[in-house]
Amino acid sequence: MNAPENLTAPSLRIRASSWAGLFDCAYRWEGIHLLGLRNVVGLRAALGTAIHAGTAVFDQGRLDGAGLTADDAAGAMVDKLRDPDNEYDPARDDLTINEAERVGLTLVSKYCTDVSPHYDFVAVEMETKPLDIDCGGGVIVRLTGTMDRARIRKGVGGGVGIADLKSGSAAVQKGAAVTKGHGPQIGTYELLYEHTTGQPITDEAEIIGLKTKGTAEIGTGTIRNAKRVMVGDQDTPGLIEFAAEMFKTGRFYPNPKSLLCSDKYCPRYATCPFHD
Ligand code: SF4
Repeated sequence: MNAPENLTAPSLRIRASSWAGLFDCAYRWEGIHLLGLRNVVGLRAALGTAIHAGTAVFDQGRLDGAGLTADDAAGAMVDKLRDPDNEYDPARDDLTINEAERVGLTLVSKYCTDVSPHYDFVAVEMETKPLDIDCGGGVIVRLTGTMDRARIRKGVGGGVGIADLKSGSAAVQKGAAVTKGHGPQIGTYELLYEHTTGQPITDEAEIIGLKTKGTAEIGTGTIRNAKRVMVGDQDTPGLIEFAAEMFKTGRFYPNPKSLLCSDKYCPRYATCPFHD
């Protein structure tokens, strides 16, 4: 496997932000991204999207020197929550729109006041240069799109690292962001940053977790060596090599132990024979 730049005529275009899901349950990923299955999300997922919209407006405003305030970010969050891009099923989660708004306002305000100012961001949800992955057998997968929800931050020594915002009902535990399972996403973003800018990632990655259930909390956690896990080394194949094999053979493996293996999160659940 190798990943040369700008091969012509990719067999498949894949959004960079979806790539990591392939390493959670590839069978689910195939259902959503190749077969076009859709699952109806609940209000909590819509709340997550709204919180990310609000925080991104604020951080982009800091970068641009636009003078946006936490109130502006809160407004962007409420607008997105009340008028989401995609429909959601209000009966799917145990919270009302007013409760969702209260949680969102608390988290966005906390983020803008207590968290964001501690970071020196150099890019927010950066657009990436397409990266072609030659899977062999004439199959070329092209990763495109933006680093959804992620920022590039400058570290103390001047090097850069990824900071990825993750929201969810259990995104923070015991005061720290949950990092488990986020390595492939971080590794993909590190790879794409280096490919896009020609500059190396030299700082560790951080997850900034925003907890949307119970007490609204924000915590951080660190991920190291994510890119190496993605590309491998002389002794161990990287996850990209496993992915290339799946694309070449068309065999996408199920993972019934995935945290998303439920009727609520997997649109393939009804027909998938692999779960309990
Ligand atoms: S039901 Fe479970 S095993 Fe089957 S595709 Fe969905 S997440 Fe994967």
